[in-house]
Amino acid sequence: MPRLLLLLPTSTYRTAAFVEAARRIGVELTVASEQPSTLEAANPAGFLTLDFEQPERAADAARVFATQHPINGVAGVDDNTALVAAAIATRLGLKGNPVHAAMAASDKFLQREQLAQAHVPIPRFVLRNLEEDPAAVAKSIPYPCVVKPVRLSASRGVIRADSPQAFVAAHGRLRAILQDPATAAACGDRARHYLIEEFVPGYEVALEGLVVNRRLHVLAIFDKPDPLDGPFFEETIYVTPSSVPAGLEAAIEDCAERAVRALGIVEGPIHAELRYNERGPCLIELAARPIGGRCSAVLRFGDQGVALEEVILRHALGMPIPSLQRESLAAGVMMIPIPGAGTLKEVSGVAEAKAVPLIEDVQITALPGERLVPFPEGSRYPGFIFARGETPRDVEAALRAAHQKLGFTLLPQQPPASGVGPTPP
Ligand code: ADP
Repeated sequence: MPRLLLLLPTSTYRTAAFVEAARRIGVELTVASEQPSTLEAANPAGFLTLDFEQPERAADAARVFATQHPINGVAGVDDNTALVAAAIATRLGLKGNPVHAAMAASDKFLQREQLAQAHVPIPRFVLRNLEEDPAAVAKSIPYPCVVKPVRLSASRGVIRADSPQAFVAAHGRLRAILQDPATAAACGDRARHYLIEEFVPGYEVALEGLVVNRRLHVLAIFDKPDPLDGPFFEETIYVTPSSVPAGLEAAIEDCAERAVRALGIVEGPIHAELRYNERGPCLIELAARPIGGRCSAVLRFGDQGVALEEVILRHALGMPIPSLQRESLAAGVMMIPIPGAGTLKEVSGVAEAKAVPLIEDVQITALPGERLVPFPEGSRYPGFIFARGETPRDVEAALRAAHQKLGFTLLPQQPPASGVGPTPP
């Protein structure tokens, strides 16, 4: 039986879906995490500890492990583990991306440079050092603009500024985010820099794809019916199929395919955000990983309703994939908006929300006692709502109706002990 090495950070939401997919396929599974599992001693073939911050060292450790337990495929689940998966795939000769491609996909500046070189439409951009005087920088840039960190994800720290004053304020907030020790460690050298981009007006879609032997297969295009005009970019509803006209859809797919080629991505899942306006599509970001959080549950493929995770793992192992055709029903997910800053006491109305027609599931992922941090400092949604129906419009209405049933009770946020912390919104 083939063995899959699955790279699962301890804090991921993705464990259950990927482990279930591996079980369905019937492979031997080794779960690698950055922290040792208590089960490792009892089941040395099933668990492995890898330093996800050091992809090459992780690849060394995987090679040693593979001498005892040969590995046939490797898969990461987020930006960081996609990079580690690329290093391991390269070292062990498995299916995957070259390290430089995974790197370009997870570093927003490298990505911009490579896409610009390949003439893929992207916003104008400039990399700046956080230590430069923001008031001076503010005078030299066009408005509206977007400031963003180079190596974070899920819109964390992404802020629109329409004026020099707003830019200076955004800069201050971004600097505070990047000075948080855990964030700074995760960003490495890039914690000292940030991007300033032209704000691209228009509609936004997300594109989910699988690259097989250099060719992009588009699995779904999601509309994002709530406008994302800033100043912060919290996601809410994703619905598919998209209602963009067919000609435009082809242009969007073409833009994503050109980005895949420009970044050198040759295998595996991608998730891209694109905007479009009268000038056509514009690539905002492309990541070499699947859609985040619990959102993947919205996608099912072929007659059997195969999960996205199963598609990804089959591909990583070189096993046949029954279908890359999404089901015919419309489907959608709402990332439940963060209801405010504070400590979550309780959530009411979950049963009522689940009872709304077309609602498939309501998953509250925040736990009582958990601190909720709004965007742009935070990025962790308190839960997800899923719906399926005949039309995208029905699905969207069901998601909104279900959300209306939910009530979040928060206890006020305690001021941070040090007196330094995220600025309240
Ligand atoms: P992340 O990887 O953290 O999600 P992105 O670069 O994808 O960061 O930005 C998050 C969101 O912010 C995008 O989906 C989009 O809505 C918005 N955004 C980012 N950059 C721009 C831009 N240059 N113009 C308009 N909107 C932007």
